[in-house]
Amino acid sequence: MNYFRDSRRMVVKVGTSTLTHSTGHLNLRRIEKLVKVLSDLHNSGMQIVLVSSGAVSAGVAKVGFGKFPTSPEEKQAMAAIGQSELMKIYDRFFSDYGHTVAQVLMTKEVLTTPERRAAAENTFERLLQMRCVPIVNENDSVSTDELTKFGGNDILSAYVAKLCKADLLLNLSDVDGLYDSDPRTNPDASLISRVENIDAIMSGAGDAGTERGTGGMIAKLKAAKIVTEDGIPMFILNGHDPEILYALMDGGHVGTYFTAKK
Ligand code: GLU
Repeated sequence: MNYFRDSRRMVVKVGTSTLTHSTGHLNLRRIEKLVKVLSDLHNSGMQIVLVSSGAVSAGVAKVGFGKFPTSPEEKQAMAAIGQSELMKIYDRFFSDYGHTVAQVLMTKEVLTTPERRAAAENTFERLLQMRCVPIVNENDSVSTDELTKFGGNDILSAYVAKLCKADLLLNLSDVDGLYDSDPRTNPDASLISRVENIDAIMSGAGDAGTERGTGGMIAKLKAAKIVTEDGIPMFILNGHDPEILYALMDGGHVGTYFTAKK
C-alpha cells in the first residue's frame, strides 16, 4: 500500500526532542534534513503544513537561561524568544530549497470562535494555494489556560489536520511508533504497525515524554483518535532520520499507522 498516493495534503508534526540537541540548542543538521525532505515532497506535488515545537527550548538556549522553565511566565517569555529563532532557521533552509514559509500561531479559541475558525481555515487554504509552507505552533506567549491552550502540539497538530482537511497526519517523534509494552523497560516489546481500535490500546500507553518535549504516547493516541474519527489516518514515526519519509513515499511501511474511521 502506498500511503502517500492518495495524500495530497499532509500535516507533519515534529517534536522538540527531534528538533533540538540535549543542550536545548536547535539541531541544525536534522532541521536541514527535515526541510530538504519536506521540500522534496512539496516538489512532488504535495501540500505540506508543518506543526513545529521547539520554541521554548530554542529560547532557553538562546538566552542561556540555564534550566528548562517551570513557571508559565518563564515558558511564555522563552517561547516568544525561541519562536522567532525557529522561524529564522526554517525560513533560511526552506528558502534554500526554493520554498516560502508562513508562520501561523494558534490558540484553542481560534477553533471555538466560528469567525476566527473560518479566518484560520481561509488563511491555510490561501497559503496552500499559493504553494507556501505554513509553519504552525501554539501561540505559547499568550496562551495560559484551558480555554486558550491545546495542551501540546500533538493535539494541536490533530486539530490543524482537521481544520485544513488534510489527507494524512504524520507525527515525527523520538520513538519508532507504538509498542505493545514500554520498550524502555521491556526489551521484548514489539512495534505495532497498524491500529484499527485506539480505545482498546489507550489504557496501556505511557504518559511521560521527555522534559523538553511535552508529548508522551497518550497525547499521540488522543491526537490519533481526533483525526481518525474525522476520516484522516495518522502515522507515528521516528523523526531521528527525516529521510524515513522517503520509505513511505516509495510504498514501504514504517512506524505505526492508525486507520481512518470513515
Ligand atoms: N509549543 C511548544 C514549543 O514550541 C511545544 C509544545 C509541545 O511540544 O507539545 O516549545
